[in-house]
Amino acid sequence: MTQATGQMRMARTIRRAVVTGGAGFLGSHLCEHLLERGVEVVCLDNFLTGSPENVRHLMEHPGFRLVRCDVTDFVHVPGPVDLVLHFASPASPIDYLKMPIETLKVGSLGTLHTLGLAHEKDARYVLASTSEVYGDPLEHPQREEYWGNVNPIGPRGVYDEAKRFSEAMTTAYRTSKGTDTGIVRIFNTYGPRMRADDGRAIPAFVSQALDGRPLTVAGDGSQTRSICYVDDTVRGILALAFSHHAGPVNIGNPDELSMLQLAERIVQMTGSSSPISYIDLPVDDPKVRRPDTTRAEQLLDWRPAVPSDEGLRRTVDWFAAQRDSAALRAG
Ligand code: NAD
Repeated sequence: MTQATGQMRMARTIRRAVVTGGAGFLGSHLCEHLLERGVEVVCLDNFLTGSPENVRHLMEHPGFRLVRCDVTDFVHVPGPVDLVLHFASPASPIDYLKMPIETLKVGSLGTLHTLGLAHEKDARYVLASTSEVYGDPLEHPQREEYWGNVNPIGPRGVYDEAKRFSEAMTTAYRTSKGTDTGIVRIFNTYGPRMRADDGRAIPAFVSQALDGRPLTVAGDGSQTRSICYVDDTVRGILALAFSHHAGPVNIGNPDELSMLQLAERIVQMTGSSSPISYIDLPVDDPKVRRPDTTRAEQLLDWRPAVPSDEGLRRTVDWFAAQRDSAALRAG
């Protein structure tokens, strides 16, 4: 156990939470799950990569409030706050390569401002960090003790280093100001509300398969990822949020798949006749990725429960339904 995880505090009662990036993929699921647990939610988002559409179904809920706000400017939330979940940040490579400065700003200034809010309100704070802090890992699977292998001036550095900086800032608030912080290192998560065009493998493969277009596999497809269904990831994040643990804690599914296996499964599941085509591997693309989830199991009693076939089926069904309703709207 690290020094940080060893600092024990009492878990608190959470009545009102602030979710930054709450109109994004993960954030919108977090808002939904928090409301289901009876927690009021203030969702802060500037819609850089997310959309009000993702939380439209929550707008009538009396405990939900959506506020347009860029957390790199300033963060002000009137009233009590028990929990701040900092999830604002472009997360897909396509987004952060297009918006490198915005990504660095939300990881640095956004983290500073949201930590300031948690400190001011005496709230629990959870930082959404990422498996990308391990970079192209030289240790496999990745345990939280591993420091990573990141190229700070490579194209992906804007995201990886922003998150590494935000982890350092979060830790500094805990150690120097006594803020009750937790860091979750999230591994590849998939599910409904991912954007079809966000460049991540699963939404790309699913939409290509549903359209009958070739599935574009990078490199020879032997690079691996472990994919976690969104409900499992959100359950893990909230287990950390409702605890007193500092982390960092890996949350991800240790089931590892090669990109080629993933593409083939999606072709089979959609009944598509799409061929597989091969494209260049992005610069600094990690070759392997698999979380060691021992810490999450021990500290949070968390383990993923949704098998990948089931999660992929739900995701394919959601993308298919989205296409059908878009086709209906178009007449
Ligand atoms: P997303 O792009 O769907 O959501 C990010 C949200 O943050 C969007 O709604 C966007 O508009 C908002 N945002 C960005 N900059 C902002 C700013 N300056 N002020 C206010 N809002 C801002 O991405 P996601 O996949 O939902 O990821 C959410 C968080 O989880 C990110 O911090 C990401 O790094 C982390 N994460 C995600 C995954 C994953 O597999 N999805 C894996 C690891 C870490």
